[in-house]
Amino acid sequence: MKIAVLPGDGIGTEIVAEAVKVLNALDLPFEMESALVGGAAYDAHGHPLPEATLKLAMASDAVLFGAVGDWKYDTLDRPLRPEQAILGLRKHMGLFANFRPAICYEQLVGASSLKPELIAGLDILIIRELTGDIYFGQPRGRRIATDGHFPGAEEAFDTMRYSKPEIERIAHVAFQAARKRNKKVTSVDKANVLETFQFWKDVVTEVHAQYPDVELQHMYVDNAAMQLVKAPKAFDVVVTGNMFGDILSDEASMLTGSIGMLPSASLNTKNQGLYEPSHGSAPDIAGKGVANPLATILSAAMMLRFSLNQEAAALRIETAVQRVLAQGLRTPDIYSEGTTKVGTSQMGDAVVNALRA
Ligand code: NAD
Repeated sequence: MKIAVLPGDGIGTEIVAEAVKVLNALDLPFEMESALVGGAAYDAHGHPLPEATLKLAMASDAVLFGAVGDWKYDTLDRPLRPEQAILGLRKHMGLFANFRPAICYEQLVGASSLKPELIAGLDILIIRELTGDIYFGQPRGRRIATDGHFPGAEEAFDTMRYSKPEIERIAHVAFQAARKRNKKVTSVDKANVLETFQFWKDVVTEVHAQYPDVELQHMYVDNAAMQLVKAPKAFDVVVTGNMFGDILSDEASMLTGSIGMLPSASLNTKNQGLYEPSHGSAPDIAGKGVANPLATILSAAMMLRFSLNQEAAALRIETAVQRVLAQGLRTPDIYSEGTTKVGTSQMGDAVVNALRA
């Protein structure tokens, strides 16, 4: 089991170190190799995704990723910015399915801005298609308009498109994931306005015929955005395209109150995956030893489950995290009165201790 460890920038190095500590405590035969990525790689090698880092990622069963980015790189040409490393890894590894669970831990119910009764026990999974849609569709660019409301004016345009196989494969992922959960898929579209998403809806419906045991519901994206804050527990698995998924997965992640708790996984057809917390590099708190490492530790658990076939070890980590929360240990982002404030490495140590208990 080979794991590429790419900590990246900002708090990335601090939180990945804790996840590695937890993985080491499992006593499983992992081979872990680290490499630079993002701004750190740009500083050392002039590129956010150096050839050697990409080679290591491609040759591994899974990539454990921290976060990339810092304001100081914002003036670089776009292809050299740290965030390009993630896009490059997604593209080269063919990571088309992004999984973002939003789970509300009993002990953290008070951290959400929603009423406790709306989110207590929340456990939903947002599956976002990651390689198609308007983010990658060609043609795109700027030009002088020849029609529309202002012919002769400068305009910009992007192209929304999905092919049938792209929709089919993400639909299969969603139905298969639902089979292991509460057997309900909500496919989110904008079929009332967009041709691409009428097609999406038709193809998802067609694929559903192979999963009669799973309930399928279609929902327009505007309604889905409302329902996520009105009655989030009504969802089980949500599947949608790249742009809607980008927005809805962030909305869903905030239901639980803390971005520092949310793992994510991006998988290709061979179950090779990239595992990272849902948050960024948090330059505002980097180096202070206060970042919450739990999202990264829970991402490592997803890695064990999806790419390394180690379900028991994944569960051990998830149970250890719950134990630590039950002990009242909190990093500042999830701290509330009556709990004990701890730093990044103390939190990692506590998870290791809970694993061994
Ligand atoms: P961010 O997620 O880094 O931070 C948002 C807020 O959440 C900050 O106040 C931060 O302190 C807090 N936060 C984030 N993670 C935390 C944790 N583990 N524990 C405690 N608090 C945490 O988003 P941002 O500030 O918009 O972006 C910062 C940089 O990260 C930018 O350069 C951005 O491009 C980059 N970014 C990278 C990724 C990625 O690597 N996948 C994702 C998002 C943003």
